[in-house]
Formats: sequence, C-alpha cells, structure tokens
Amino acid sequence: MIDIEKVYHWYIKTQNEANREKYEEYDGWLSASSAGQCHRKQWYKTYKYDERPIERDSARKMRLGTVVHEDILEKAIPTYLTMHGSLPGVENWTVYIEDRIELPDVKVVGHLDLVSINPDSGAAILSDFKTVHSYKWRKMFGHIKNRDKNPSINYELQLGTYALGVKRKYDVDTVEMNIVWYNKDTSTMRTTRIQKAYQTEALNYWTNLKETIEEEDYDKVYKFKALVPGTWNSPVNEWECNYCQFNHICDSPFITKKGVSNAKSKGTSLEDKRRASADKGSTSSGGGSLPKAQKSK
Ligand code: SF4
Repeated sequence: MIDIEKVYHWYIKTQNEANREKYEEYDGWLSASSAGQCHRKQWYKTYKYDERPIERDSARKMRLGTVVHEDILEKAIPTYLTMHGSLPGVENWTVYIEDRIELPDVKVVGHLDLVSINPDSGAAILSDFKTVHSYKWRKMFGHIKNRDKNPSINYELQLGTYALGVKRKYDVDTVEMNIVWYNKDTSTMRTTRIQKAYQTEALNYWTNLKETIEEEDYDKVYKFKALVPGTWNSPVNEWECNYCQFNHICDSPFITKKGVSNAKSKGTSLEDKRRASADKGSTSSGGGSLPKAQKSK
C-alpha cells in the first residue's frame, strides 16, 4: 500500500516552508494574521523558541482553507476580471489581490486577500476570506441563544490591521472591512461587515504587544501577570492553549489536552525545556536572561 498520507503531509510541510520564506526579509516582525494572539505566544515566536510540530490532521485542515483561498483569489477573481473587466459593485475601482501590508512602527507585516480602491473618492473595500467548520459557524450565525458574543475577535483585529496598512499604502480615508465566511462542511458563504473601531483596537493591540516583546527577560514581562482569558496578555479562549505550538514550554494552567508534552508529566522542568529551546534557537534571542519556570497554579 502506498502511504499517500505521508506524501501529502510532506507536500503541505514543503508549501508551508515556502510560504515562510516569503517573510525572510522581515526577521523580527510579527504577522498580521496573528493579531489578537496571546502575548506569551508572540513572545516565544519572536525569540525563536521551538515550535511543537503540527499534527498531520491539523495541517490538512489548515491546507483546506488555503486551497479555497487559492481557488477564489488566484483563479475565480482573476478570471472574472479578465472576462468582465471589474468586480460587481466596484466597477472602475482598482483591485489588488494578496497585497502586502506593512506597519513598520509596530513591526507588523502581512498579506491581505483582496482590496478595491476608488482613487476618486479615497475609499477602499477590504475583503478577507475565512473558512470555518460548522461548530464555529453556529457560534456566529446559529440560533441566537447559541451564539458567541465575540466569536472572531482575532479575525476582526487582523482586518483592522490590514485597514491601517491600506490607509497608509494607498492614502485612502475610509476602509470598509468585510469577512467573507465559507463553511467547509456545507459550502455556505456569508459576508459580515466589521466595525471601524477594530482599526483602533488593532493599533492598541500591536502597540501594547511591542512594549512586552521588546523586553527580552521573560520574568520581567510575565512573572506577575495572571492569565485571564480574553485579555491581551492571555489567549482569547482557554481552549487555545491546547492547540498552541508553544504549549510544551508554557506553564499555562489551561493546558488540559492529553498527550501534550507537558513538563510536569515528563519530570523535566519548564526552565530546562525553555533553556533547551532558546539554546537551539536563533542568536537573535538576545542578551536577556533565560526565562525561568513559573509555578503552575
Ligand atoms: S499555551 Fe496558552 S498561555 Fe501559553 S503561549 Fe500558548 S496560548 Fe499563550
């Protein structure tokens, strides 16, 4: 029997590495798509701590989103533009696909999906595509009593970040922000408008994060900070810790998933794990003291 799963996993890994190479010149910058993530996670990433290898099924789930993106952005939209000259609703506007956005003051870079610019009115319309499973879909569009109050704050901050970049890059005054949702289970599509306030929220997030990222000493940044889900210092939701690529070196009390290589279960101290990770990492992890283990609550 041919191990096709192995072949596909190799392919996904190769594609992900190629994608990372696009950002090689941005060493030390943060990715716009990580907007809203736990500060600790961002800190570990910046100082190049070892990331836990992604599981095969998780990698495939993410790849499915990329495939839908590629179909819409690299095939459907360019073909439509060739055949019709412009997109519906924004006739004679200039369209940019997978456009690079930079915010050098907070060292953030990313690629938005689609932006349409009206050079006459100084307006822009931003569209970002998100693929989700039915569970998340129900949290957003299901029965009102089952809806999450804030199911997609990370995405909203990501859009707010792109909007800030669009304003600077194209000198436009207003940016309408939309998320185009695609349900991977039912193929239903729906578009939601994002409030303008997320542009300010995004700037606040990156500005606060920059302050903590610039502190290389882990203890100074985190020792006295409690993890309170939903605040900038912590994951938005407790369950995120179970899927975090740094949960093998983080002492978050919210790591409950079986099989996570947790320091306590292996009899190795968190300090040792972090030290090993930092030693293996880039020399840019800097002159700050090595993070020390924190006590789990
Ligand atoms: S495990 Fe949780 S608290 Fe720790 S870095 Fe990851 S998301 Fe943040």
